[in-house]
Amino acid sequence: MVEQLHHPDEAPLIEELFKRLDAGVSFRAIAADWEARDIVNDSGTPFSPQHLRRLAINPAYAGLREHNPNRRGKRPDAGPATLVDATWTGIVSKALYYRVFKKITDPERHTSRDGRARHLLSRIARCDPCGAFLIIIRAQKPKPLYSCQKHGCASIGEAALDEWATDVIVGWLMRDDVATWLRRSGEAEDEALAKIADKLAEARAELAKLRAALKSGAMSVETGMIVEPGLVERVKNLEQDEKDATTPSVLRPLVGLGERTFEAWEDTPIEAKRDVARTLFVPEILGELRLKPNPVRYQVAPVEDRVTTRKVDV
Ligand SMILES: [Zn+2]
Repeated sequence: MVEQLHHPDEAPLIEELFKRLDAGVSFRAIAADWEARDIVNDSGTPFSPQHLRRLAINPAYAGLREHNPNRRGKRPDAGPATLVDATWTGIVSKALYYRVFKKITDPERHTSRDGRARHLLSRIARCDPCGAFLIIIRAQKPKPLYSCQKHGCASIGEAALDEWATDVIVGWLMRDDVATWLRRSGEAEDEALAKIADKLAEARAELAKLRAALKSGAMSVETGMIVEPGLVERVKNLEQDEKDATTPSVLRPLVGLGERTFEAWEDTPIEAKRDVARTLFVPEILGELRLKPNPVRYQVAPVEDRVTTRKVDV
């Protein structure tokens, strides 16, 4: 894979792969689309979702290589923790690579089998009286419910709350001022992200070197104990900065679509929808989504009377 990095036909495809993964498109969907476009790998067969995944975690495409002095011949899937700048230039930016890596290795991505992340608002919406998250109870049909995780103060049908939230989200995504804001922040974000990604790669490499030096005895444990916590802290802070700076990127694929917004939302995978809901239902944007109990016991009130959003003006 690494050796044919700059094959002229390959670079645009690699770029496309990373951009679509960043937008929340699944490996399966990309593989199907490439097959339909007659795009084949070196063996002349269509790319499988597994093959695409191997490409997407290959740091060589971002001009990075693994710094792992103690182990040789290891596959580049250990994660970004040990990556350093390579001698070649990448096809995609480091920021994009790290963002996609985080996304495709996120454990929540694969939780649909155990049901943990299948629902739009679980652990995103909150109970209004007590502030605890809503979680799904009675996940089995006929009627799954969101309910206060801690005290059961309030519960509501999943479909009703999802529908309400979807209308609010799609309505916001369609706004013209949102498109303008996102366009402006996009340019600043790319610049900021590239800077953070560089610093992060540097700090991670330093940490890897330090740990290697400790392991081989080239550095005393005493010295290591003084230096390491500071470095770990720096990596953590930079990771948080990166997360903060990428916030609008989860929205980008859904903004500026006008009438097609709802359709695009319906086609968005649940993990990406949850990212959007998590990004928007915060005090600074749409407000925290909170559920009040039914005002009269055993009498179901309409959703709009039971949902409140805590908002701050910024
Ligand atoms: Zn509660």
